[in-house]
Amino acid sequence: MSDYLVRLAQQPAMRSVIKSIGLPTPQALARAEGGYAERPLEGKRALLGGAPGARMTDEVASVLAAAGSDPERADKPEPSSDVKYDALVFDATGLGEAANLSSLYDFFHPVMRRIARCGRVVVLTDLPEGEGETAAAVAARAVEGFVRSVGKEIGKLGATANLLYVERGAEARAAGPLRFFLSAHSAYVDGQPVRITSAPDMPDEIVFTQALKDKVALVTGGARGIGAATARRLAAEGAHVVCLDIPADRETLDATVAEVGGTALPLDITDEEAPRKIADFLKEKFGGVDIVVHNAGVTRDKTLANMPEHFWDMVLSINLLSILKIDEVLLGEKVMRDHGRIVCLSSIGGIAGNVGQTNYGATKAGLIGYVQAQGPKQAGRGITVNAVAPGFIETRMTAAMPFMIREAGRRMNSLSQGGTPADVAELITFLSTPGAGGVTGNVVRVCGQSLIGA
Ligand code: NAD
Repeated sequence: MSDYLVRLAQQPAMRSVIKSIGLPTPQALARAEGGYAERPLEGKRALLGGAPGARMTDEVASVLAAAGSDPERADKPEPSSDVKYDALVFDATGLGEAANLSSLYDFFHPVMRRIARCGRVVVLTDLPEGEGETAAAVAARAVEGFVRSVGKEIGKLGATANLLYVERGAEARAAGPLRFFLSAHSAYVDGQPVRITSAPDMPDEIVFTQALKDKVALVTGGARGIGAATARRLAAEGAHVVCLDIPADRETLDATVAEVGGTALPLDITDEEAPRKIADFLKEKFGGVDIVVHNAGVTRDKTLANMPEHFWDMVLSINLLSILKIDEVLLGEKVMRDHGRIVCLSSIGGIAGNVGQTNYGATKAGLIGYVQAQGPKQAGRGITVNAVAPGFIETRMTAAMPFMIREAGRRMNSLSQGGTPADVAELITFLSTPGAGGVTGNVVRVCGQSLIGA
């Protein structure tokens, strides 16, 4: 399932051949291995600037320094020098009005050619809906268009650009998201706006390494694919992982569980008794649960005119209805502990829709509605509820696609390549950590900034 174009483009001679026939030359992405490091930016060169009146610049500098990279500071950098930066970070909070958007030009224009391979751009700005003044809301929202466009310009370097919308009062909560989006853990998350708010209750002291030590996580569909990658990543962060999958898949399930030192829960989530059985199992064995990843999902594709009713019912039942029923019990009976995390697997198919996927698209969009409604409701207990929307991921499913369709899916994003199950697992793990406590009701795509549904 590896990408032939990424491999060939690493050889200089082949790179020119690929370019000459008009194909993209995707960069091999620098990906992190294992758990979070105390200083993930050690040895990285960072440049930090701010708009006039920006309120987070000093705080951001401290976060970067603690992560291992004391940033150079310049609001209007000199265009000289051939120094390359691994990270460009700009504080665009407090812009106030659209005329001040020129501060983005002043900072980025001189250094756009100085972004290192697999570099990172992160911009912080105000939450537009939190800005009372129309002019300030316009300016804050304009930053999103800027960041998304920068992402498209630097993708050929394997570099990413992401935006943190920070609500006033939630500034201290940006540390976790900054560390994630500036590190190699976010290699395939590109062009994303993430909202950080002060709504969810969050402890003052946050640990960033072995971040899930003593936590219990449930991953549905945990035997293989994205679910198994997630189980590995959560376990690497210190969590005890309960992998749930259908009894027919017992062998694969047991192999994954043995690998992560977790616990198997062979169960079909559409079983009428499943919510009760899951709740009782988690209460009896572990006294509760801290993280639930609703990953089990299926496709049964047919155009609506040709779709048999059982295709519709099956996809609705597995991908959406069972999730609502399970959470009703886990949240209603407080099996999920305070400061818990719920992460649902949505899809860009749920954002953009897809031919032959009326059933799948409805379920994955329904999950977006779910996290947006449930997030605020659980904020008082510090529980966050988010969705992850993968784009083209290199799995058995996508390997089986006809060549031309597979190529189109793979290349139609800023990084010109597909992601891996581990890339999705990284984003799920970040959203499961205490450091992501300010992020709730968000839908974050892991799609290399796919053109579909953008
Ligand atoms: P996969 O088919 O490799 O794994 C899904 C797992 O869910 C399987 O082990 C399966 O046995 C389990 N499962 C299915 N029905 C179940 C049920 N009723 N009860 C318990 N377990 C059940 O799929 P994947 O590619 O790893 O995808 C995981 C999730 O990510 C799905 O929700 C999928 O919709 C979503 N997603 C995947 C992609 C992609 O490119 N692979 C893209 C977007 C979204």
